[in-house]
Amino acid sequence: MAVNKENYFSICEKLKQKNATLVAVSKTKPAEDILELYNLGQRDFGENYVQELLEKQKELPQDIRWHFIGHLQSNKVKYLAPFVHLIHGVDSFSLLKEINKQGVKNNRQLGVLLQMHIAREETKFGMNEEELEQAINGYLEEKMSHVVVYGLMGMASFTGDKEIIRREFDYLKNCFLFYKKSIPSFNILSMGMSSDYSIALEEGSTMVRIGSLLFGQRNAARQ
Ligand SMILES: *Cc1c(COP(=O)(O)O)cnc(C)c1O
Repeated sequence: MAVNKENYFSICEKLKQKNATLVAVSKTKPAEDILELYNLGQRDFGENYVQELLEKQKELPQDIRWHFIGHLQSNKVKYLAPFVHLIHGVDSFSLLKEINKQGVKNNRQLGVLLQMHIAREETKFGMNEEELEQAINGYLEEKMSHVVVYGLMGMASFTGDKEIIRREFDYLKNCFLFYKKSIPSFNILSMGMSSDYSIALEEGSTMVRIGSLLFGQRNAARQ
């Protein structure tokens, strides 16, 4: 159950060279493991399940920056709004509107990333180019006061073929750069996990989400 410190330090070193941020993905892992990494200086942690995140947030140090990286349902935004640092998986305009509404209620500006579907598998969430354009246009037109779109997030295909992964990340980067030209807040490109973060960094990732390399494999029942 212990954290892999050697991996942690070597990942941090690589990220420093690229000026990229590590989100340590702690889903399914106990609070002790998170604290162990926290005591090494890590502050950004990512979780996929709202209930699990709420429990951990209560019990762990209050200066942790919590990233929600799972698929968020509109009716759960209200639970995260009081404390969440960044919501990575926003994949519809209606969800953006709900996040803005909860931001207003909590008097906080909520940071989000829009998730694009870049993988071959159909099971992964996210928007295509057209849906992304609609969401961004809606965001700009409504001048949402309490939500800030910081950039894009995506997950590459689950494959051993590095060229496929590279192409998918490259595609996401190009979409990111396209919007970055006209939206000043665009400065985060969240891509790369344990198996593909090196490729993601080469392709311009500014934020990687890494779980198993740090915390060990999760049990298969709840990935
Ligand atoms: C679980 C998860 C990760 C981390 O996966 P690892 O392969 O364990 O590094 C990253 N991003 C998302 C969206 C996840 O659900």
